[in-house]
Amino acid sequence: MKKGSLAPNLKLSLPPPDDISKFLTGSGTFKDGDLLVNRDGVRIVSQAETEAPALIQPSDNQLSLADFDAVQVIGKGNGGIVRLVQHKWTGQFFALKVIQMNIEESARKNIAQELKINQSSQCPYVVVCYQSFYDNGAISIILEYMDGGSLDDFLKKVNIIPEQYLAAVCKQVLKGLWYLHHEKHIIHRDLKPSNLLINHRGEVKITDFGVSAILASTSGLANTFVGTYNYMSPERILGGNYGYKSDIWSLGLVFLECATGQFPYTAPQPEGWVNVYELMEAIVDQPAPRAPSDQFSPEFCSFISACVQKDPKDRPSANELMAHPFITKYDNCEVDLALYFTGSGPSLATL
Ligand code: ATP
Ligand code: MG
Repeated sequence: MKKGSLAPNLKLSLPPPDDISKFLTGSGTFKDGDLLVNRDGVRIVSQAETEAPALIQPSDNQLSLADFDAVQVIGKGNGGIVRLVQHKWTGQFFALKVIQMNIEESARKNIAQELKINQSSQCPYVVVCYQSFYDNGAISIILEYMDGGSLDDFLKKVNIIPEQYLAAVCKQVLKGLWYLHHEKHIIHRDLKPSNLLINHRGEVKITDFGVSAILASTSGLANTFVGTYNYMSPERILGGNYGYKSDIWSLGLVFLECATGQFPYTAPQPEGWVNVYELMEAIVDQPAPRAPSDQFSPEFCSFISACVQKDPKDRPSANELMAHPFITKYDNCEVDLALYFTGSGPSLATL
């Protein structure tokens, strides 16, 4: 039998029950020398593998929630909670996102379908979804752990991100968006700083694509998930058809915010927005925001303006934006995002 493969029908002679506890891990995994047994089956590993087990791949598809130890809570969103967890067999770290939702049986099929799409994504600019479960009114998603947290977390530390770093971040986001749009035919729908994750290697990846689609498709509960309207395009607010270009609008607002340190729309009164409709009205009725030309390069100002065209037809695609002078401007410079991310503020939790 192939090393490391599952043999569900293998017959075992187990020690008497009194002695068995010393072989059991907290998750109920039986471990003795070359043998690893859990409710998913039997795994035979060589001694070398026992010491350094093969790392889990997205295609493994045999993870169980019981095989993870919770380390700590790393984030909270409107929809749920994100924990750093460690896989008991391999020691690998993952982020476990749990979204509470009590939905009818009929909506489950939809969710299973959407989660499959998430899982099949293989792109270095998109956060890997290893496995997802629907259990007892909650969706649990095992995600690649990004040790720098979100761009939102990072922006809070540094206040503003200089243009050369923004171009390097944006290039990766555009590659991720192009993959989602062109290869997967997915509209992200919720592109915002907290859905762009970073790590100590200087990588930037898009997360939570498809999640908003899942929540929107479970119509009865769609309103209980109130995310932010801040980055929503005018055509989407107006309730008409919207497409990939809606993500490009959000991208423009996100990068303008990263450059200035402020959300691009300001409330008419000092107390802030009275309600969400006031902000929505501003997005639909006011001219699109711009990057101030006395503070930013012409290339950056032009990039932002291209993204936040009020008419989606006037916005370039992710692929077209890759060739924009702002993105290509620093091609010959050594922009070290790893150093920038790790050297700014408190050190990243590198694991
Ligand atoms: P919303 O619920 O409105 O979408 P959100 O994006 O902030 O808001 P979550 O997606 O639950 O909410 O994420 C909350 C926080 O958890 C993020 O801001 C980030 O700091 C952290 N986080 C999420 N996913 C990961 C991950 N894969 N690796 C590391 N940290 C993560
Ligand atoms: Mg998120």
